[in-house]
Order: sequence, then structure tokens, then C-alpha cells
Amino acid sequence: MTAEDVLKELRELRAGDLPTHGGRTLAYVYDSGLSEVDELGAAAHALASSANGLDPTAFPSLLRMENDLVGTAARLLGGTADTVGSVTSGGTESCMLAVLAARDARPDVSSPSIVLPTTAHAAFHKAAHFFGVRVVSVPVDPVSFRAVPEAMAAAVDDSTVLVVASAPSYAHGVLDPIPEIAASLDGVRFHVDACIGGWVLPYLGLGPFGFDVPGVTSVSVDLHKYAYCPKGVSVLLHADAGLRRSQYFASADWPGYTMLNTTLQSTRSGGPLAAAWAVVRHVGEEGYRELASAAREAAVEIRAGIEALDGLRILGDPVSTLLAFTVADGAGFDLFTVADEMRERGWYVQPQFAHESSPANLHLTVTAANRGSEKEFLADLGASAVAAREAGPVVVDPQVAEFVAALDPATLTPEQFAGLLAAAALGGDAGLPTRMAEINALLATAPGPLRERLLLEFLGALYTAS
Ligand SMILES: *Cc1c(COP(=O)(O)O)cnc(C)c1O
Repeated sequence: MTAEDVLKELRELRAGDLPTHGGRTLAYVYDSGLSEVDELGAAAHALASSANGLDPTAFPSLLRMENDLVGTAARLLGGTADTVGSVTSGGTESCMLAVLAARDARPDVSSPSIVLPTTAHAAFHKAAHFFGVRVVSVPVDPVSFRAVPEAMAAAVDDSTVLVVASAPSYAHGVLDPIPEIAASLDGVRFHVDACIGGWVLPYLGLGPFGFDVPGVTSVSVDLHKYAYCPKGVSVLLHADAGLRRSQYFASADWPGYTMLNTTLQSTRSGGPLAAAWAVVRHVGEEGYRELASAAREAAVEIRAGIEALDGLRILGDPVSTLLAFTVADGAGFDLFTVADEMRERGWYVQPQFAHESSPANLHLTVTAANRGSEKEFLADLGASAVAAREAGPVVVDPQVAEFVAALDPATLTPEQFAGLLAAAALGGDAGLPTRMAEINALLATAPGPLRERLLLEFLGALYTAS
């Protein structure tokens, strides 16, 4: 096949994806709305994608760019001359490394735990799972969805190796009271997860939440979110090199090169790093201030529009560029149907299931590209709510619900899963469903562990070699 034909095929495949540009996909993607930023990122990516960050002495360009990016992030997030850090592949890797470094700095603790508000990103649960650390989940305020400092402090004990808070949380976009939490921690490591807000909050004058808060020991920030860089780049910062030491790994215990790793990866493409380095230099402080303002103004306008819509209400007080909204009690329509209706109108909004005090809701990640189309979004949201009301509530087939209720996540078999797919009329070669309300309603009836199992079976079915 010629290169030209292969690229044609790739373009056709990509045409079936959600759009990554234009502000119509309000999760997963981040659009500055500036095409030259994307072109620069792609060009820089291509220049360095074959270079390997595994050995900084062999590729000093990558070392230089990493130190530059860490320095820029540290200055933005209240760092000092002592602040150090690493460029990672994404927010999950940054959060996992913060947990790993905290665990390994405390070999004296036999059963280490981390204290998380219930709104902390699932990346910390993944870290706990991978690294054999116990999660101590602390309920957040049921109205503001912000962490409660006294409750966080009360959850800390001798086994605590790390306390986490969000700036802001992904689910609701609210800022945890970081100075108050920090003040109550007596020398315990404190990680601020600014993966999604780190490149926005400082430009909006919000905070303090970074190293300018005494007691904060590490901060994560994703450049592939609001720094509008191509995917695959995040920064994990530590207040000093001593805190970072236990994050590093070396092995001389084999006949090959002595493996020295700063992150979970070993071979590391220079592509995402160079792309981020180039984009950050090009956009600059003033550019990011404008992008943050544009995204925030869009979020404020969308929030006001949602609050004015009959039957919808915003959760908490989202101060940044993320929003979550739910249906008011007795509004008489299904939220997941609203998401489907929006999809038919060309918008992707992200369903989030109920969890503890947080009701089922729809999440919006608002970016600079949303500035200017707020009214169109709100008009379509209003029309979607009307359509959802006309469609009436989603009723889960009682037989299917009964079947699901009887499933045990620990022993679920592939046959039972196939039976469920058939019962929910999802089997066969129909491809991925576009209307999800019925499936979401069914999943919402399943307790968390069962929902995890069902979706993992689904994932396994999706990923079959072709
Ligand atoms: C996105 C996000 C993460 C995880 O980042 P990935 O890049 O998706 O791995 C962690 N924490 C918060 C607050 C996030 O928004």
C-alpha cells in the first residue's frame, strides 16, 4: 500500500471519531482555537519523536527541554529554587509517581495508606492498587463537594504516607481548601493534584494552591490539558530533591545497561516533550492568560445559561473551567437522555454516575475554543432538555435489572456477560451504540464494583484483534 493510501485510510478512520477541535467535545480534548499552536506542536513532535529520554546524556536536547518545562511549571505553581520535577506521560503517571515516592520514602510503615477526599481523581485509586497502598476515603462537603479540612486531618494516622487534594477536582471543578488542609498536616507529605487546573488557576488569580502554601510537598500539572499541548505530557513537581529521590529507579541487576528511570516509562519518546516545550514557549504567559480568560468566560456564560434552564442545576461552585450539572428533583426527565440528545445535535457531554453525595450528572470541560459558541451550546442544551422531557423517564427492563442485581462481580463469567448484552439488546455486530441512556440507566443500577466488572468485560470485548 502506498503511503498516500495509508494516510487516506487513516483520515477516514479519524473521521469517525469525536471532533477534537471546535469546542463540540466537552471532555477528553482541549482546544486553544489557535491553529498555529497545533501546527507548531505537531512539527516539534515530529522533530523529536525518535529521540529517547531513557538516556539524557545521549539526548541532551531532551534533558534541556525537560529542565526548561519543569522550571516554567515551578515558577507558575509557586515553586522555589529548590523545586525539582519530572516530565511524565500524563496525569495518571504523575499522580502514581507521587504515591510511589511517598510510599518508598517511608519503609518504616508496614501497611502504608493515602488519605483522599472522595472527589480525588481515580488515578490515586489506580496508584493504590498498583503499589499496594490502602486508600482512606474522606467524605467531602455534600453541598460544595469540597474536601473538609477537619475530616481530612482526622483521617491521618501513623500509616499515612500521603494526603491528596485537588485544584480543582475533575468531577465538579471545585477547589479544595488547600491552605486549610496543609495547615493541619504535621509533616505528612501533601500532594496537590493540579493536573487540570495548574495551567488555569494562576492565570485567573485563583489560589494559593501550589508551593506557596506551606506544607505542599508535590504538585502535578498536565500540559496536555490547559497548556493545549499534544497528548502525552504532564509534570510532577516536588518541593525539593530529597522528596523526589524515592521516585527514581535504578537496576544494575541484569547484563544490559544499568537501567536508570525517572518515571514509570523507560524508553520515553521525545515527541510529546518537544511539542510541549515548543507550545509553551510560543504561547507564553500573556497567551496563556488570554486562553484561561477565554475558557473561564465561556464557563461562566454556560453556567449562567444552565442555571436559567428549567430543571437543571449546577453542582457546587465551580471556580475554574469545569462544570457539572444535574436534574433538579422532580424535573421529570432523564439526564442521560439529555446527553444523547446533545450527541445528536453534535455535542459530546460526559455522563458521570452518582457517587456518595454527588448525584448523577453531566460534566463539561470548557476550553478556549468554546468562547463564542456558548449561546449555540445553551440553545441545543435547552432543546435537548425539552426532548428528554418529551421522551419521558428511561425505564430499565425489570427482568434485566433483576438479572443485573443477581450478578456477583467477583464471579461474573463471560457467559453471564454475553447474556446481559443479549438481554440489553447490545449483542451482535451492530457496532458501538450512539444512544447510551438505556445502557447508562442500567449501569446506574449496578453498585460500583459490579459496574467496574461489567465495563471491564465490555472493554475486553472491544479489544479483540482484527
Ligand atoms: C485528567 C486528570 C488526571 C489524570 O490525567 P490523565 O492525563 O488523564 O492521565 C488526574 N487528576 C485530575 C484532577 C485530572 O483532571
